[in-house]
Amino acid sequence: MHILVTAGPTREHMDPVRFISNRSTGRMGFAIAQRAAEAGHTVTLIAGPVTQPTPPGVARVDVVSARDMLQAVTSRLEHADALVMCAAVADWRPRETSGVKLKKQIMSATLELVPNPDILATIKPLKHNRIFVGFAAETGDPIPEAHRKLADKGLDMIVANDVSQPDAGFEVETNRVTLIPRAGKIQALPLLSKLEVAARIVAWIEAAAASAH
Ligand code: C5P
Repeated sequence: MHILVTAGPTREHMDPVRFISNRSTGRMGFAIAQRAAEAGHTVTLIAGPVTQPTPPGVARVDVVSARDMLQAVTSRLEHADALVMCAAVADWRPRETSGVKLKKQIMSATLELVPNPDILATIKPLKHNRIFVGFAAETGDPIPEAHRKLADKGLDMIVANDVSQPDAGFEVETNRVTLIPRAGKIQALPLLSKLEVAARIVAWIEAAAASAH
């Protein structure tokens, strides 16, 4: 299969040195790309600004903003059999972006924001029979929100992740997730390394593709 994976945060610049972003390090998405390549798939990894090394055999495309990521995903979707949206896309961006560093004296205390496009919602009409997997990172019980996002975003499966736990989510090597498919069995996985979580997600995609044929 050809699997498209997004990873990391996006950065929404207000000038060349200042931006809005989040704590995503890209580890989970890079682990999925690594595992998918190890399993023999063709992998394209669209990465926000992170310091992770590119896994062997993975084609990497670096992007900065949510709009860059939308463009990168849209232009590569045609060749993909599956998309895993692991990126923590920034929901908002500054209304204005300056090409030069803004002087403190002329900056206002209020930063005006506009919403970013939702990548999954935007590309939903291009899905056809591709497998789409999303993530729901929540603080507190992620399951109800994950069910809502699974339906709203038209996904085949969502990976629900409580990021308020110290051993799961951002900036750690381990994760505790629940795999919630649109149809089929919910799997609450134990605490695992991100590579082991990635292996379960890739295996789920392979099984979903096999059962569709
Ligand atoms: O941010 P949210 O919790 O809604 O993200 C859930 C899923 O939607 C994730 O898979 C994320 O990558 C994706 N997403 C997106 N475009 C956005 C925000 C999130 O595709 N602008």
